[in-house]
Amino acid sequence: MKVGDKVVCIDDSSTTGIKNGNIYTIKSFYTCKCNLVTMDLKEVFVSGFMGSFCLCGHRCGNANLYRSTRFRKLDESFAEDVLENIKEQIEEEQLILVL
Ligand SMILES: [Zn+2]
Ligand SMILES: [Zn+2]
Repeated sequence: MKVGDKVVCIDDSSTTGIKNGNIYTIKSFYTCKCNLVTMDLKEVFVSGFMGSFCLCGHRCGNANLYRSTRFRKLDESFAEDVLENIKEQIEEEQLILVL
């Protein structure tokens, strides 16, 4: 996976802002000091967001970060059809995001 790649969510457990089967674009990568690799996604906005906390307890920053194992890379040709699904954004209050 690299910046700009489209990915499909395969694990939306214990987090918010993403949904299984939805497609997202990778904005940037972040590696925690515990070596967990996470990604910031272009399409995700969580209202009331206060920062991303890693499973190791470290606060990784202000972006909505998700660990890369929650996604798999998407085949480009297939991407455009499903892109519409993302429009329904999540507006729930969320103060802490678990990667
Ligand atoms: Zn961290
Ligand atoms: Zn960590």
